Formats: sequence, structure tokens, C-alpha cells
Amino acid sequence: CGIVAYVGPREAAPILLEGMQRLEYRGYDSAGVVVSNRGLKVRKVKGRVADLAKVMPARFKGTLGIGHTRWATHGVPSDENAHPHLSADERIAVVHNGIIENAGELRAKLQADGVEFASDTDTEVLAHLIARAVDENDTLEEAVRKTLKSIVGTYGIAVIDRDRPGEVVVARNGSPIVLGIGEKEMFAASDVAALVRYTRQVVHLEDGELAVLKADGFHTFSSDARETAKEPLTVDWDA
Ligand code: GLU
Repeated sequence: CGIVAYVGPREAAPILLEGMQRLEYRGYDSAGVVVSNRGLKVRKVKGRVADLAKVMPARFKGTLGIGHTRWATHGVPSDENAHPHLSADERIAVVHNGIIENAGELRAKLQADGVEFASDTDTEVLAHLIARAVDENDTLEEAVRKTLKSIVGTYGIAVIDRDRPGEVVVARNGSPIVLGIGEKEMFAASDVAALVRYTRQVVHLEDGELAVLKADGFHTFSSDARETAKEPLTVDWDA
């Protein structure tokens, strides 16, 4: 039900957890984070952000990561069904708000090809599909963009690739995604509430838009791969 993403010079996990706490008002049943640091490190639990904070190891270092608070639609609230969801090779991690309507059909096809699922969520198909697409595309953004063409439903997503530790790809269709522009750092979230402690410069994605975030900036593009021009807004907010 809420997404937070970070890439920059700082430790990602505390920023993700703090942002997720600010999304608590949206309601949720599970929480999870993944950071990238020579491999993907994941912690996720059924429960509150405070419950997740309790099981975070002291060493959970990485300056790029994504976090999620879940409002279960497909699969009961459980540790396994909490996001992030990873591809079988643990290369791709995805967090998702929304509902993938053709998840059943996509899951059946992947399973017929021998893919093993670790959860009952609709979201997990995205991790497996993007993992396949990264092998056939030059960039993560192209892999995500092409994968989303096969998805019917609503989503706000954030995706990271173990083998591209400097970027986060986000996309929106029916679930809000807002980018936060910092000083040599970038954020994304499903609500500005998660960002205002760090920056007041924001960019709202439109439905059908994607973005790539790197520490030194971002660019946005449409589902047909055309670059889109976005003017940052300054939000006025008593954080
Ligand atoms: N449909 C997904 C799930 O059930 C995402 C739910 C959400 O928006 O938090 O895991």
C-alpha cells in the first residue's frame, strides 16, 4: 500500500523505514525492504514497520534500496507474501502497489516453464518476468517497460537489479508515484509525506509513465519509450 525508494550516498535502510512509517496512515498488514550491496539483502515481515525495525540486522548496509508496506489483495498477510519479491536467481527485486489482474494466467505460463514461486501474490510474476527481460534488453528500464506491456491491472512499482547497483526504475499506472529530487540523491514514494523530510523538490509521474533514478538525477519516459519533460514542483509542507 506504500512504496519508498532511495539511491544516493547515504545508508538506504533508515531512510526507507522512516518513509514507510510516514505512509502508515494508508493502512497495511506487512512491511519489507531490500538494499543492494554486492547482492540483494532482504528483510520482510507480517506486521508493522516497528516489527520490521526489530528484526533488522545491525549490519544492513547499502546505499540503494526499496521498501514497501502491503495491503494484501492476493495471498494472505504473511512473511512470504510481504514485499519485496525476488526473481528465482535473486537478481531482480520488486515492490508493488495495486492489483495485477492477469497474474493467474502469467503465473501458470511461468510455472509451465519451470519457474518456482515463493509467494501467493500477484506481484511475484513481475519479478520473474523482469528477470527474463533483463537478459534480452540492454537496460533495466527497457526490461521493465517491455514487461509492463504484458500486465493488465494497476501498479505503482519500484524495481532494482543486483547487477546494476546504481539505479532504481519506477513506473505508475493507477497507483501514485512521486519522485523526490535531492542533492546527489533521489527518492521515490507513493506519497510526498514519505519524502518531505528529505526534499521539497518533487515530480509526479502520470499513469503510463516510468522513471529511472540515479544518485545524480532522473529521467522519465512513456510506455512507448518517448522521453517526457517534467518540471519539478516545490512542495510546501510542515514536516
Ligand atoms: N496486490 C499486491 C499484493 O497483494 C500489492 C498490494 C498492495 O498494494 O499493497 O501483494
